[in-house]
Amino acid sequence: MKKVNLLLLFTLILMPFAFQNLYAKQYVFIGYDSFCGLPIFTGQNPQIATAEKDNYGRPIIHIDPTALANLTSSRIFTLAHECAHHKLGHTSRLGEMERYHGGTRKQELEADCWAAKQLSRYGQFTDLQFQTLKNLADGHFIANGYPSGVERAQNIYSCATGTIVRHDASPRCSKKLVPKTIVVTSYQVIPTQVPCSHVRMGPYGPFAIHQFDLIPRKVPVQTPTTKMVEVTHCE
Ligand SMILES: [Zn+2]
Repeated sequence: MKKVNLLLLFTLILMPFAFQNLYAKQYVFIGYDSFCGLPIFTGQNPQIATAEKDNYGRPIIHIDPTALANLTSSRIFTLAHECAHHKLGHTSRLGEMERYHGGTRKQELEADCWAAKQLSRYGQFTDLQFQTLKNLADGHFIANGYPSGVERAQNIYSCATGTIVRHDASPRCSKKLVPKTIVVTSYQVIPTQVPCSHVRMGPYGPFAIHQFDLIPRKVPVQTPTTKMVEVTHCE
């Protein structure tokens, strides 16, 4: 009993300090939730930032300020991204099911897009640029069903600027038949005159029977023809 009281006393004394520390950490995110309206909780998070539900099932954003301290990612973008997961229903039962059944890539791109639009609307272009460059640096590496850094960067860019960027690696191609004039070479065998000196003996000596022989020769004949050919047209 005494032990419990002591613990309680300690807790009461230390509580304000604990809160102070918590508020100090949360201070770095003040204003960042202006476009989200959801509470931000700071604390150790191996995933850096996550969209979670509190014990009462209310949506919260759980962020690890120390993990973001090295500024490899934009803080505001990270927050907006997590906020998007809530806003877009990814944390609902249906959303969780979608993610479980291979929807990670889709949801991540959707959350990035929402965040990019918000940051663009709020004029946070430095952070948008920062995040895009960070993603580009991650390259084409794909892990755990997440989109690659390059894909994320392209998606953020297109969502922030309203430009359409194709995400699939290969362009959309279609095949069609078009008329094409081609020259077909065929061969004809025609008798051709070649000089000769066929002689015959006559009463007055040898005389030429004829001066040309007719020899069959293969002659190329070129005929222009219109043919339908298959061409591949890529957008
Ligand atoms: Zn995410």
